[in-house]
Amino acid sequence: MTLTERGNTTVTGRKRLHVITWGCQMNVYDSARMADVLAPLGYAPVDAPDGADMVILNTCHIREKAAEKVFSELGRLRRLQEARAAEGGRMILAVAGCVAQAEGEEILARAPFVDIVLGPQTYHRLPEMVARAARAANGDKPGRVIDTEFPAESKFDLLPEAAAPQGVTAFLTIQEGCDRFCSFCVVPYTRGTEQSRPAAAVIAEARRLIARGAREITLLGQNVNAWHGEAPDEGAWGLGRLIRELAELPGLLRLRYATSHPLDMGDELIEAHRDVPTLMPCLHLPVQAGSDRVLAAMNRKHTAADYLRIVGRLRAARPDIALSSDFIVGHPGETAEDFAATLDLVRDVGFAQAYSFRYSPRPGTPAAGAPGQVPEPEKERRLQELQALLRAQQARFNAGCVGLSLPVLFTGPGRHPGQVVGRSPFLQPVHVTGTTELIGKEIPVRIVAALPNSLSATLEKERACA
Ligand code: SAM
Ligand code: SF4
Repeated sequence: MTLTERGNTTVTGRKRLHVITWGCQMNVYDSARMADVLAPLGYAPVDAPDGADMVILNTCHIREKAAEKVFSELGRLRRLQEARAAEGGRMILAVAGCVAQAEGEEILARAPFVDIVLGPQTYHRLPEMVARAARAANGDKPGRVIDTEFPAESKFDLLPEAAAPQGVTAFLTIQEGCDRFCSFCVVPYTRGTEQSRPAAAVIAEARRLIARGAREITLLGQNVNAWHGEAPDEGAWGLGRLIRELAELPGLLRLRYATSHPLDMGDELIEAHRDVPTLMPCLHLPVQAGSDRVLAAMNRKHTAADYLRIVGRLRAARPDIALSSDFIVGHPGETAEDFAATLDLVRDVGFAQAYSFRYSPRPGTPAAGAPGQVPEPEKERRLQELQALLRAQQARFNAGCVGLSLPVLFTGPGRHPGQVVGRSPFLQPVHVTGTTELIGKEIPVRIVAALPNSLSATLEKERACA
């Protein structure tokens, strides 16, 4: 649809909404839901913030200097807001997500041009917040809104059903919050305690996603394998049971889930990896460190040997499973010997892919004030060494795929004309020469070359898509 603007309103009656998403897949899901909530108010998503009627900055608190990055981005948005006002329009500016949850008052104090601050649990109330913020335009105070409660009602029960077409791959949040309180992590403070959505609500949302075009669904949660949702009949299901039920839905070709804690990798879930072909042989299972001393200081409540045992059980159940992980180097108290234990664990497991970070203190978490903070240059040195090892493992894993026939689910056009891209079962991007008719189909390909982060392939024959 072409939008012609006249002041604050568009000729079509549509208002332009731009959502900036930082952070994890759960934030990507939340951003899409915020757009759904605002659609009945006439807001339609646009690709750029310039000239928008509303901009939402959906923030993440996990990375270093998260708050400073938010204030610097807000400085840029303020200039766009001023430009909009100079045209006679108005840009409502909202800050959402985990930084909003943790620093809400600070944002209102330091950035008076921000209209709305909302936490991850309250975005179902956005229409009401927008109405209050809009009244401020008429001098009706107070127009600035802060809503960072952990409300009694669940936002999931109050979100509208999305109608827009869905890409081939979709995210579905089934669990939020975390009760594990790892020493370094802000999630239990910003996302609250662990909550599981009922199985029937998850299945209904999955059906809707499939009806709108999704062929692969990734179930999301801060600690997703701790999911234990109310069963449709009575009692509760674990994630393994939920996966078995979802795998039966017509039209769904692939299931994944992220992110998991090793201690919540129960038998039922491991057996689902053995029995359910729709569940992809690929698992992100963060271990964080390989030293038992550091794991205890992190409050992870498992040892390196526990992790290796879980990996052994997963590989016995699904021999081709590709593992990935998160690592933190330089947690307070980590010695050179502790770090060497992390390298040993990496060599023992052999990861297909991994993320690794320098420890960075998060205000309010136990590790932030702990003794034995590791100097930055040493953290950096350790990170470089770990990343070199992980890169080599990833390159080896990718090279091992050359010559294999793998099913690829095509998701979109490739970077070069005449190319399409999809994902292997192990989540590697795979490029082939082909037309966009392949998009949405799962087709066997022959892997012909491996690059550091992707594969290239030639088409074999088409597999019927349900
Ligand atoms: N729930 C997951 C788990 O149990 O591992 C991870 C959640 S967190 C959103 C994603 C990753 O960010 C973590 O696995 C950790 O490696 C990293 N991370 C979290 N807090 C950090 C901090 N203070 N410093 C560096 N990395 C951090
Ligand atoms: Fe954070 Fe994950 Fe630990 Fe929960 S289990 S506190 S989300 S790192």
